[in-house]
Amino acid sequence: MTINTEFQAWRVQENDGAYVGGEMTLNTADLPEGDVLIRVSHSSLNYKDALSASGNKGVTRVFPHTPGIDAAGEVVESANATLPAGQAVIVTGYDLGMNTDGGFGEYIRVPASWCIPMPSGWNARTAMIYGTAGLTAGLCVQKLLTMGAKPEQGKVAVTGASGAVGSVAVELLSKLGFDVVAISGKASHAESLKALGASEVVGREALAEDKKPLAKPVYANAVDTVGGAPLAELLKQVQHSGSVSCCGLVAGPALQTTVLPFILRGVNLLGVDSVEIPLEAKAAVWEKFASDWACEKTEASAKDIGRAELDRALKAFLKGESSGKIVLDHT
Ligand code: NDP
Repeated sequence: MTINTEFQAWRVQENDGAYVGGEMTLNTADLPEGDVLIRVSHSSLNYKDALSASGNKGVTRVFPHTPGIDAAGEVVESANATLPAGQAVIVTGYDLGMNTDGGFGEYIRVPASWCIPMPSGWNARTAMIYGTAGLTAGLCVQKLLTMGAKPEQGKVAVTGASGAVGSVAVELLSKLGFDVVAISGKASHAESLKALGASEVVGREALAEDKKPLAKPVYANAVDTVGGAPLAELLKQVQHSGSVSCCGLVAGPALQTTVLPFILRGVNLLGVDSVEIPLEAKAAVWEKFASDWACEKTEASAKDIGRAELDRALKAFLKGESSGKIVLDHT
């Protein structure tokens, strides 16, 4: 049996080079092929969604398109015995919301290989508070731990600390006992970053460009969400044998550095991708957030919006004015 039902989606259309998003009625028959049809109750807002919604062809090639790289909800039709109807699932990354219609619609149809069964005791809204941003923060922290990072080694820096990835990294690292230095361009967020667990909040000038190839070592380890020139400076300030998890590029994709932090201090630069990694690697981090990695403060402060508020919220992302976690509630 194939379910044919109408649903609402926040869809982006191209009109003479301008990209305009708005509510539309679609039919599940309009969705791409896939093993699993999911009724989406919640999605999460990410920088990449803002890029897709503004017509960035590096993210989405063909319009009209429904963005939303994250989705959580319930399987309503499935060709896969391990994901029966009624199973609650999380879908993040792969092609969801890029060139496959995503979580800003009430239904998605995706391959079973993209679906993670909801950890027990968890629900779709909580999962989407974390979303891809939280998952990425978790993967960044996991990589530092895998490299042997320990609280007694010293301070851990988090750049872009007020952002969606950065704020979860701050809370999680602090929860795990690390002494977290939040590096943020928003002085107005100093108190909220301390409330998340940062012991110190410093401005972006702490990573101002400097011609010297190495600087005084300040941080034992770091999570970098901004890339570009601040990451190059951060690498110079990491102690011997320290590690930096690198996941973002809001300060630019270019990285101009020397080999000196690597060959004189043994610093490790660790790439973090949350999109194409094996499903099991994602599931392991979700299970942790659903248990001993739960970031209660992030969960308590998340904001819910409806589809009508998406346009404004996505534009705030592009202007760098977004903070905290935003959940899209379809219910
Ligand atoms: P946000 O926009 O929520 O946060 C980014 C933060 O970076 C801002 O809040 C701001 O924090 C800081 N920032 C913004 N502009 C600049 C700038 N020009 N120079 C220095 N700092 C700046 O984005 P997310 O947290 O969702 O994502 C962060 C990055 O991670 C993005 O590049 C995103 O594409 C990437 N990402 C990568 C993933 C992966 O799989 N590798 C997955 C998810 C995201 P403050 O004011 O506190 O300094």
